[in-house]
Amino acid sequence: MLTATKSQVKPGRLLINGEWLEGAQHFDTINPATGEVLTQIVEANSAEVDKAVSAARKAFDDRGGAWRKMSASDRGKLIWKLADLLERNIDELAELETLDNGKPIFESRQVDMPMVIDVLRYYAGWATKIHGETVNTFETAFTYTLREPVGVVGLIIPWNFPLLLASWKIGPALACGNTIVMKPAEQTPLTTLRLGELAIEAGFPAGVINIVTGGPETGKAIVQNPAINKIAFTGSTAVGKEIMRGAADSLKRVTLELGGKSPNIVFSDADIDSAVRGAINGIFYGKGEVCNAGSRLFVESKLQDEFIDKLVGRAKKMQPADPLDPKTRLGAIVSQEQMQTVLGYIEAGKKEAQLIAGGNRVTLDGSKGFFLEPTIFGGVTNDMKIAQEEIFGPVLSVLPFDDVEQVIEQANSNPYGLAAAVWTKDIKKAHIVSRRLQAGTVWINTYGLMDAALPFGGFKQSGFGRELGMHAIEHYTELKTVWLNLGT
Ligand code: NAD
Repeated sequence: MLTATKSQVKPGRLLINGEWLEGAQHFDTINPATGEVLTQIVEANSAEVDKAVSAARKAFDDRGGAWRKMSASDRGKLIWKLADLLERNIDELAELETLDNGKPIFESRQVDMPMVIDVLRYYAGWATKIHGETVNTFETAFTYTLREPVGVVGLIIPWNFPLLLASWKIGPALACGNTIVMKPAEQTPLTTLRLGELAIEAGFPAGVINIVTGGPETGKAIVQNPAINKIAFTGSTAVGKEIMRGAADSLKRVTLELGGKSPNIVFSDADIDSAVRGAINGIFYGKGEVCNAGSRLFVESKLQDEFIDKLVGRAKKMQPADPLDPKTRLGAIVSQEQMQTVLGYIEAGKKEAQLIAGGNRVTLDGSKGFFLEPTIFGGVTNDMKIAQEEIFGPVLSVLPFDDVEQVIEQANSNPYGLAAAVWTKDIKKAHIVSRRLQAGTVWINTYGLMDAALPFGGFKQSGFGRELGMHAIEHYTELKTVWLNLGT
């Protein structure tokens, strides 16, 4: 039996100017573990988006208003208070995330939600540390810089880490004094809506945080609205390109966190058991619906047989199960559409490589949930479709290699450049390879670790701009130079 839920799932509304409003059109949000409707969510149209943007604009532009008058210290305290309220409701939020996304409750409760809270607290601390500089230029001038908020920021969020990736944007946006209009993915709006309720409880002034739900049309309305100053987007590379084109007309600032096809490189001198664990977590954590998933596993040829035996042994033990069961480590694929996409890649893989584990849909207790076996292909070459394209599911390609130069060349022969990993006990080799990999993050002898203080983002078609850490502050501020004439 799939576990019964304790969380109350309410129908969605729009948060505009501090009030919850009913919308004109609605769509269903589905529980991917059962295929059943969880509740109805508003599909915000462009008039509703415009209303949210106007509220955000007013809250930002009104210099005598509550938000602009608030000291940086009080702004930080408010963000911290929101983090406290999220922590107080952590069990409910984790359950909502799992119901909506299908990820194991272990991940929602032990990883996603604690990091959401940590990220908000990290940026709460930044609110009082954003400053310009005085610069010595001429005796007859006083010259300095101001770091000012960008204005109204449109946040467009994907479905794989719904509240976590929202927090990566909400934290720096608010710490810098911007106002926001955010749109969660249509598949996973529930935790963002709950955050909206907690933001009101925390005491954010009306118009500072606005939430509009809906799909691509709602997203386009945000991108096209001329009163928005910046778009912070996480999602697919295809949509990222569309957003960049759409933002060009009004020259909005844009940061893009896009897809990946990350190489995970295992040399024969690695600690093999750790590398096997890293390879498994690198691809099957989050059902493989992870932008930095280690989906191309390069294993040195002389290690192939031993490594693949161990890998397949572990994968076979990792069967999908009820996402609400705390023991589950592989949940449900987010939607039927995504499951079909992944199955399509598995079929393509069967034609060009060797299927060595999984490959099938799994039915649990006769439910209509979207579960897939952990799947591994061997004998993959870097030019195959399954090695080049982002599958965004629990599908691993194993590629053999013979030497350092060859593996670096192949690892970099891909349009993406989000992350990479290297497994070796040779410290010099680890650093040399890390330096030459075209990736925003490189892990050595580990996989997938993140911290609020460390920047995350992509090279090449994995996007640009960095989230997390101090560098995100630069993306949510404008730099102004001021000259004061001290002469005559
Ligand atoms: P998606 O691009 O389909 O959708 C992302 C968001 O954009 C959703 O909110 C969606 O409604 C909205 N959207 C869709 N079309 C739009 C348009 N034309 N204009 C404006 N908004 C639009 O991505 P997804 O399927 O939700 O997420 C998976 C993708 O996200 C993967 O490619 C993954 O690699 C990427 N991702 C990247 C990171 C990162 O940090 N680099 C993190 C997580 C996910």
